[in-house]
Amino acid sequence: MSESPVWHPFWQHGLGQPVTRVTRAEGAALYTAEGRRVIDAVSSWWVTTHGHCHPRIVEAIREQAGQIDQLIFAGWTHDPAEDVARGLTAILPPELTRVFFSDSGSTSVEVALKMALGFWAHSGEPRHRILVMEHSYHGDTIGAMSVGERGVYNAPYDPLLFDVGRIPFPVGDGANTIEALEAACCDRPAAFIVEPLVLGAGGMMMYGAGVLAAMAEVCRRHGVLFIADEVMTGWGRTGTLLACEQAGVVPDILCLAKGLTGGSMPLAVTLAREPIFQAHWSTDRAKTFYHSSSYTANPIACAAARANLAIWREEPVRERIATLGARQQAGLDRLAVLPGIRNPRRCGTIIALDVEDPAGGYLSALAPRLMALFREAGVLLRPLGNTIYVMPPYCISAEDLTRVHDAIADAVAVVLKG
Ligand code: PLP
Repeated sequence: MSESPVWHPFWQHGLGQPVTRVTRAEGAALYTAEGRRVIDAVSSWWVTTHGHCHPRIVEAIREQAGQIDQLIFAGWTHDPAEDVARGLTAILPPELTRVFFSDSGSTSVEVALKMALGFWAHSGEPRHRILVMEHSYHGDTIGAMSVGERGVYNAPYDPLLFDVGRIPFPVGDGANTIEALEAACCDRPAAFIVEPLVLGAGGMMMYGAGVLAAMAEVCRRHGVLFIADEVMTGWGRTGTLLACEQAGVVPDILCLAKGLTGGSMPLAVTLAREPIFQAHWSTDRAKTFYHSSSYTANPIACAAARANLAIWREEPVRERIATLGARQQAGLDRLAVLPGIRNPRRCGTIIALDVEDPAGGYLSALAPRLMALFREAGVLLRPLGNTIYVMPPYCISAEDLTRVHDAIADAVAVVLKG
């Protein structure tokens, strides 16, 4: 067969590593074209929450596809979107009154930034500066990259990225972060965007709920909009529906995607407090919120999200999350004592650890070697540099999870031998 024309994301084709073809997915398992069963220990890029092809979500998609497949959303609406919006406002903090649909985590962030800038512009006090936390990741569109960490993955585009204020990642009790945020807030920035509790792509870096609460409080005191990017941390990953819950924080703007549809369809929402919506509410058409994409609130994706909300209401999702968290902790305790393991950590259902590597960093040579060993072991894990993390769907069995932890122990032993 001729070479595939597919250009894969975050994949260096020049390294000649094989691309695995998957023909079926169920629960926490992927089945390859060669008939191998592979455990999906990264929830297919952090999206799959209840497991692949959850029957209720599959059925909802099937049914909706035969009713309304797609509908323009500017001034038109449909039941699945209305139900999702109401379902979200019913389970999220009541201050978040408005739901804006888009189709990926990156676009939910772009929308959040535009809402924040629009709020200030239409309030007659234009503010433009965005504050971010160092090591953050918010997506790969230009705006989302601008508010994320700069590095090898966005260096070619750097001249186009807008300038932001960077707040250091919390050390110890986080006083360094709070002090820097306090100082930066005096310059009247528009907003501070943050990944609550866990900085995912930055290396599964974790910080405490106390720091999160303190950051939100500083922003509140200075009237700086607090944007919580819960694209990765939302939908139970950190042990609660939202990570912000653990800090008693209600953001001004909240980004959700990935697990919104249980990880089955591309859909995102950006929720806002009422004053942000009201700043755009006007008889003046110039104050319209000018943002959309063709598939905004696609009915099939919304039907999947509606099914996801029903699963959260009707199935013991929180119990599954607690069980998974405990099993992950047991596995982490076992891995933590092995030679070469540094900084073992857990937040809810996510565990992470660093493998000793003096070179370290995102381009650590360990990553491709580890990934290949995991692949041989029938486990899908994708280290971030020398950081290995496990973020499985909540339905993963105890046996499969043990296999994942065993694969990590084995692979680390191999790479540390040199
Ligand atoms: N924000 C965070 C915190 C993320 O982890 C990600 C993706 O991993 C994004 C935004 C971007 O989401 P998407 O890949 O759906 O555009």
